[in-house]
Amino acid sequence: MGWAIALHGGAGDIPLSLPPERRLPREETLRRCLRIGVAALKANRPPLDVVELVVRELENCPHFNAGRGSVLTTNATVEMEACIMDGNTKRCGAVSGLSTVVNAISLARLVMEKTPHIYLAFDGAESFAREQGVETRDASHFITPENIERLTQAKAANKVQIDYTQPVLEKTPQVSSSNIGDSQIGTVGCVAVDGNGNLAAATSTGGLVNKMIGRIGDTPIVGAGTYANYLCAISATGKGEAIIRATVGRDVAALMEYKGLSLKDAADCVVENSPKGTTGLVAVSVTGEVVMAFNTSGMFRACAKEDGTSEIAIWDSVENGDLLLP
Ligand code: ASP
Repeated sequence: MGWAIALHGGAGDIPLSLPPERRLPREETLRRCLRIGVAALKANRPPLDVVELVVRELENCPHFNAGRGSVLTTNATVEMEACIMDGNTKRCGAVSGLSTVVNAISLARLVMEKTPHIYLAFDGAESFAREQGVETRDASHFITPENIERLTQAKAANKVQIDYTQPVLEKTPQVSSSNIGDSQIGTVGCVAVDGNGNLAAATSTGGLVNKMIGRIGDTPIVGAGTYANYLCAISATGKGEAIIRATVGRDVAALMEYKGLSLKDAADCVVENSPKGTTGLVAVSVTGEVVMAFNTSGMFRACAKEDGTSEIAIWDSVENGDLLLP
């Protein structure tokens, strides 16, 4: 028992040679967000507040693919999406197709708390944002020069990508499911449990580079990219189409619920059975267990537990001599 928190900044094909100018700001943000989350848990804030708070911070960091820094659609626009879920009540809220909302995760929470629905998208979600008076900015605010460059490169290769930092070699005439490419950074998410076993999960993303207009990924899909119940909370990252097919979040919970598996065994089973290079997740259990599993080459991630253990890492810590920071 005891509180626990885990967060991620996306899973993908992250080369060990990732230059310090790309690695360090992200590590620093993970460290800062972990500190914020831990302080909130220690101050007895409910896990739902904690995951929202942490994901807002991650959304505000242009180095991650959410909020400002979201990757671009094929039309060079931003379509952000997010989901939040409370474990004990299974209340949840989700949004998609946002182009002006600064913190998609907070709008998802408002959908959960202020509407009879779970999921609002595109014009309806934007109108709801205006009605609720959440912070909005001109759509151009969210578009960074790095993401214009990523889109240019992805288009040159006819690739749809989680994110892009390496040259794309394959050139195909049309974008199809077979040319969803590899990536190195992405979506953000956070899961938390308090000392009383209250659980929550939150995930936010700009989706895939060069995605079709209107494409919805796993992040806002309850039971795929985001899920929480009375046993565990999960936030996934990776190739959304694969994560939706595998119902990653719900499968982890179902293995615990129906088969009595531990969080680690359940998460490892789901990740190992997902197509290689597609899936990462962070998860916490009602007993304060933390799992950060991925079948990609890396995942930006951080966690802390009440017993004093904590970790910030990108690659597999044993095989690749990763950074394990206090
Ligand atoms: N899962 C996200 C999506 O497919 C992308 C990511 O995790 O980086 O929209």
